[in-house]
Order: sequence, then C-alpha cells, then structure tokens
Amino acid sequence: MKVSPHIPRIIQDNIPKLRADLLRRYDESGRTLPWRVRPEDRKRGVVADPYAVWLSEIMLQQTTVPHGTPYWEKFLARWPAVADLARADRDDVLAMWAGLGYYARARNLHKCAQIIRDDYDGSFPKTEKELLKLPGVGPYTAATMAAICFNQPTNIVDGNVERVISRLYAEDAPLPKSKSLLRDLAAPIADSDRPGDYGQALMDLGSTVCTPTSPKCEICPWSFVCRAFKDGNPEYYPQKIKKVRPVKYGAVFALICDGNILMQKRPDKGLLGGMLELPSSPWEQTMPEAPLSFAPDRKNWEKCQGQVKHVFTHFELRLDVYRAETKAQNIEGIWAELDNLLAYAVPTLTKKAITLAMSA
Ligand code: SF4
Repeated sequence: MKVSPHIPRIIQDNIPKLRADLLRRYDESGRTLPWRVRPEDRKRGVVADPYAVWLSEIMLQQTTVPHGTPYWEKFLARWPAVADLARADRDDVLAMWAGLGYYARARNLHKCAQIIRDDYDGSFPKTEKELLKLPGVGPYTAATMAAICFNQPTNIVDGNVERVISRLYAEDAPLPKSKSLLRDLAAPIADSDRPGDYGQALMDLGSTVCTPTSPKCEICPWSFVCRAFKDGNPEYYPQKIKKVRPVKYGAVFALICDGNILMQKRPDKGLLGGMLELPSSPWEQTMPEAPLSFAPDRKNWEKCQGQVKHVFTHFELRLDVYRAETKAQNIEGIWAELDNLLAYAVPTLTKKAITLAMSA
C-alpha cells in the first residue's frame, strides 16, 4: 500500500500563499515563449493551440529552449496543423528533426499525428488519461497538455520542478528513484484554479530562480518555507544516483564520389531508428581487430586523425573514421550530396563523422 508522504506543517499552513505568490510572480515576470499564452493574453480570449504546445513539449524533452525553439518554428512553418504533419513523409520529419537527438521522439511524433487525424478527428483528447495513450506522450507531457490546453487540474512535474520540490522539502532520496515521491510532494501545492499557469510558473521558477547552481533564493517567493534555504545548502539537492556509462568502440567508413557520400539507413526501430549513418563496423566493448573487414569495398582506406566521441543515454561511443574516394557510385546505398546534407535524416553522430572525414 502506498504511504502518503509527510507534508510539513509549515507548508500545509501556507499552501494558498505559496500558490498566490508563485502565480503573482508569473503574472508579473514569467517567461514569454512562442508557444505559451501569457495570462494577459488569456484574459483577452487567446487560447493555447494544442498542436503547438504538444510539438514544443515533445521537442523540449532532453533539449534546451534555445536549441529547441528554431526546430519548433521550422516544424510549424512547414506543417502548420497536425493534419499536415500526419500527411508528411516520415523521412522528411526525421530530416527536420536531425540534430535534436532521441530520434524515437520524431518517429512517435509522426505516428501520434496520424493517430490524432485517424482516431480523434484531428483534435487532441482533453484529459490526462486519454493523452497518456498517445505514442511518445508520457506523464509529464500529458499533465502539461491537459493543464495548459484544456485547463484540467493536473500535477506538472519536470526536471526543474523536481529540483524545486526536493529543495523545498530538503528531500534527499536520490533521483531517478525518488520521482514518484517528488510528484507526491508537489501534488498538494498544485493549483487547480489556474493549473496551466501554475505549472508553467513552477517550471519557470526552477529554470530561472531555483537553478542547479547558485539559486537566487533572495528573490524566490517560496524561500520563507524552503527547508534547503533555511539549512543553507540548496545545491545539495536533488541527489542523483550516478550513472556509469560503458564505452563502446567501432569504425565507420566515409566513401566519397564526386561530392556525394555513401550512407545507409539504420533499422526502423531502436537507437537512431530510420536515420542515416556511414557504413559501420558493429559497436563493441573493444575496437574491432580488423576494422577494414567491415568496409563497404576494398579501397585505399585512409584512417583519419582523431576519433568521434558521442554520448548516448546508456553508453558512450568512440569511432575511428576511415575515408576513401571512388570514381563510380557502384555500391548500393544512399549517395547523399555533401552540400545538401540538411535534406537528409542525418543525426549529429553521423555529422561528426563526416566532418572528421572531410577535414582529413
Ligand atoms: S528558496 Fe532557493 S532553494 Fe528554495 S525553492 Fe527557492 S530558489 Fe529553490
């Protein structure tokens, strides 16, 4: 049986004030983001566009606002409505996504747009429970969309909110195991009258005031009850279980012919699914002893100086890069124009390998 977490008396007694002070700060100085409807605009009758909010939420998982915003703008310009995205060729979606990483998000984005078109008459469902059934929509995105777009009282908890809450309560149980505890600790404070504004206000507080280092407690509306502030050690929270990432090694082959480079498509499912890569050896715990046995052809392969390093969630990859020139495109694969790589679904890892090969 799940045990309710202990909410200290000082927080219980101040919940209305915590909500009001946070919302006041948001009304006065919350961030303006292109997909966000500010409270003053909402008063004028402006409503959030679920498609635009959904796109932003999917893109900003694991991505910063400055990095994700240009992608959001490009997607909306090319596919202004969910039906347009549903109709798009998936390879075009992957090409537009290239550089944002975590490519399962792009595959799910496309699949989800088609489900909205086919099963929901082109409109996003309004409840957290229904939203959670969509591919790529997890608890955070469902709660956020339900609150921001449909004014449903939900408990929005992202990484920023986890940090604020862990400090507010001085909760030192380490992430990620403590996720559900932190959600439960956040729940009693969540405002049900203005759920969307409250959620965005709290995320803003985490990203602009309760920052990972040097939090600005002196301007924080919650400092009067914050346990970590009182103890003088906010940066101690949240505690995290340290990940040790194994290292994998491999070799990739840049075969160039008349301004084109040979690439191949990765299997649809799994890591970098559906994206393009250079022909490659398997990625293993040690560098292959005879890397050229994996090369696509017998050429005068030249090993490039240096290595490509790339960090995935579960491992770090180090690649040796080999380069050769050929006169004929007589090997099966995708011969991509080097001057027009943006038109292809080329992930950052492949771009790094091509850059190293071309600088040789
Ligand atoms: S007082 Fe400081 S540590 Fe506490 S929530 Fe505010 S910014 Fe974070």
